[in-house]
Amino acid sequence: MKKERIGIFGGTFNPVHSGHLRAAGLVQRKFSLDKILFVPSFIPPHKESQDIASPLDRMKMVELALQAYPRFIPCSIEIDAREKSYSIITLNKIKKFYPNAWLFFILGIDAFLEIETWKDWQRILDKCLFIVITRPGYQLREAKKVLSQDYRKKIYEICPPQKVREEWFSSYRIFLLPIRALNISSTEVRQWAKKGKPLKGLVVASIEAYIKEHKLYRLKPPFLPFRMRRKEREKKDKGGSKEKR
Ligand code: ATP
Ligand code: MG
Repeated sequence: MKKERIGIFGGTFNPVHSGHLRAAGLVQRKFSLDKILFVPSFIPPHKESQDIASPLDRMKMVELALQAYPRFIPCSIEIDAREKSYSIITLNKIKKFYPNAWLFFILGIDAFLEIETWKDWQRILDKCLFIVITRPGYQLREAKKVLSQDYRKKIYEICPPQKVREEWFSSYRIFLLPIRALNISSTEVRQWAKKGKPLKGLVVASIEAYIKEHKLYRLKPPFLPFRMRRKEREKKDKGGSKEKR
């Protein structure tokens, strides 16, 4: 029986946007992945600001966005853990679900360049395969800069017309896949939402509606005109909070 191929696409997804969907679609087809799990990360509530939607909102948006894609699966494994999850732990959990599958970590080159900051990153590299994709403004080849010679030998740079071959999966660990990525980021989506501008083309319609309905990424009290800020302060003072900051 053919070994299953599972992609793991993690991120803050704050919110999930058309750049994520396009990239995942291209990777899925190129590598003939059976499915791709979209794994939004848990961000502790004290780190939430007007810029970071709650884990539940981000999860819900991922679910809505993926409805039209049968091979894309929303995965709440990190959000359900309700604490900061390390990729190595998430990977181990997913491995238990799919003990006989090829597992592929999918990430943009911007994220890959930070890999040395991940807990046990060498163990992650040893345990699963990586597909690193283009992100506008970055060069895929920069991936080599962050790796030692031993890992550099394990990089395979895919030429777009090439067909992916299963024997590569045993010889290499990191696949650099050039794609026509969309120049979209969640940061840009949040900035547009803050200004109340239409999000068409940046996110799917259901996400735009969700952001509007739930008033996500709006300006919050510190940015209100001074008089309103004072009122907010007075309200807070009456509440008698003991916190210093
Ligand atoms: P933010 O601006 O908040 O950092 P983001 O757009 O970078 O958001 P993330 O949730 O941080 O989105 O990214 C999740 C993963 O998706 C990362 O591996 C990132 O490199 C990749 N990614 C994000 N946007 C794109 C895009 N337009 N094309 C290809 N990959 C992308
Ligand atoms: Mg990012």
